[in-house]
Amino acid sequence: MKKTQVIVIGGGLAGLTAALHLCKNDIDVILVEKEGYPHHKVCGEYLSQEILTYLDWLKIDISSLNAPQINRMRYSSVSGKTINCDLEMGGIGVSRYSLDHLMYKKLKESGRHIIKTLVTRVDFKNDQFTVTTSNGEIITSEFVLGAFGKRSNLDKKLHRKFIQDQSGWLAVKAHYQTKPEFYPDDLVSLHNFNGGYCGLSKTELKTINVCYLATYESFKNYKNTDDYKAKVLMKNPHLKEFFNNAEMTFDKELSIAQVCFDKKSIIENHILMIGDSAGLIHPLCGNGMAMAIHSAKIASENIILFYEHKYKTRRDIERTYKSEWNYNFSSRIKAGRFLQKILLNTSLSNLSHSFLSKVPGILPMIIRKTHGKQVHV
Ligand SMILES: Cc1cc2nc3c(=O)[nH]c(=O)nc-3n(C[C@H](O)[C@H](O)[C@H](O)COP(=O)(O)OP(=O)(O)OC[C@H]3O[C@@H](n4cnc5c(N)ncnc54)[C@H](O)[C@@H]3O)c2cc1C
Repeated sequence: MKKTQVIVIGGGLAGLTAALHLCKNDIDVILVEKEGYPHHKVCGEYLSQEILTYLDWLKIDISSLNAPQINRMRYSSVSGKTINCDLEMGGIGVSRYSLDHLMYKKLKESGRHIIKTLVTRVDFKNDQFTVTTSNGEIITSEFVLGAFGKRSNLDKKLHRKFIQDQSGWLAVKAHYQTKPEFYPDDLVSLHNFNGGYCGLSKTELKTINVCYLATYESFKNYKNTDDYKAKVLMKNPHLKEFFNNAEMTFDKELSIAQVCFDKKSIIENHILMIGDSAGLIHPLCGNGMAMAIHSAKIASENIILFYEHKYKTRRDIERTYKSEWNYNFSSRIKAGRFLQKILLNTSLSNLSHSFLSKVPGILPMIIRKTHGKQVHV
């Protein structure tokens, strides 16, 4: 049986960040991730600038990836009417294939324990966690960080409320190649279609990441994603032009079902949830990755304070983490939900489109509501 101070379950951006932050402060960590690295993940791959200083502090050399800087946004309605705006803070276009791998290599370099297996159980008894994995390993710890993403076997095990309901969202992603002049490096575009929206942006691999989110209701009458793409997405003239001039570089698209944007509990059976396990912002806001990384920073800082004897009890750290999480992310998630409602309602979307094009200052203001400030270290 292994023993450690902190077990991190899930090695996506949130889990890798927490493990790196805790290691930097000499806390004993074991990270358990079920998949190998590198691999592609369903994500829009636009990383907000707000988090880059912090990643630099963690010694993640993002510049080594040569990711394109993105500082303009284009939004189009179903019929193809567009609005353009500059992004105040901006970001970079970086594939999850490279970003997660870069962070994983950094953690591995530090000689820390990374176990590739599925966690099947987490128990909390006598102020101690016991984590069981599918290969029969048992690890005990004082803290567990839940970084297992949008939907995991552990959500069921923990009887989390959101997992009881069917969620009506489906997400599909693939990389495409097109002539360099056809899609600019510095642009992230968001195109509406009936039943969802599709984001496009360049990555460091020189490919264009195309990722869309659709309601299951709008998808269910079509045979497959090709059929849906041809008959629904390509009704938007911008998407039609793009797909007619681009070639997919993946063998097949990646997809995930049951994407849930409902409220989740930040603490469950004393596990501190970080990243998407704590809450997922609507992807159109383009800062779920930054929030995942930021929430991992907040949880890690609180664990460090605990070991520096700044908290008397486990209750104190849980209360503080929950209140800091809500302070930093709750209103952004609410703003994202509101925006999503408008975009997916055709008449509201048309109305807001004409309003936004008449008052150009409104769109940057809305973007500001869903984004955080620069995360300092
Ligand atoms: C369609 C879509 C588009 C998006 N576009 C953007 C965007 O453009 N910009 C942006 O900033 N954000 C975007 N996001 C949000 C972003 O992808 C997430 O917020 C981010 O991936 C969260 O990282 P995470 O570490 O919490 O979860 P993940 O990256 O999902 O990592 C969770 C990890 O846990 C592992 N795991 C799960 N269960 C177990 C278990 N039991 N044992 C061991 N390991 C386990 C999984 O294998 C996985 O690697 C988008 C999301 C969606 C759905």
